[in-house]
Amino acid sequence: MLQCHAYGPTQGHPELVTEIFQINGKPVLVENIPAQVCDRCGETIFSRETTERIRQLLQEPHSPARSIQVEVFAFQ
Ligand SMILES: [Zn+2]
Repeated sequence: MLQCHAYGPTQGHPELVTEIFQINGKPVLVENIPAQVCDRCGETIFSRETTERIRQLLQEPHSPARSIQVEVFAFQ
């Protein structure tokens, strides 16, 4: 059971996901994040512990695992 923003309490399944976060205006990509994905709308939900670990990971001044180039498209 997970708490979805669209449907409230609903069923989800665990998945490893990739998310882009903005750190001081700079986009960083974090992959293989354990998340719960809502079975109804596909929303990705991170646990409080996972959110905290991501925050710590991005704050620490160590090097990223690797660097990639990202194509950026603007919807408007
Ligand atoms: Zn949902």
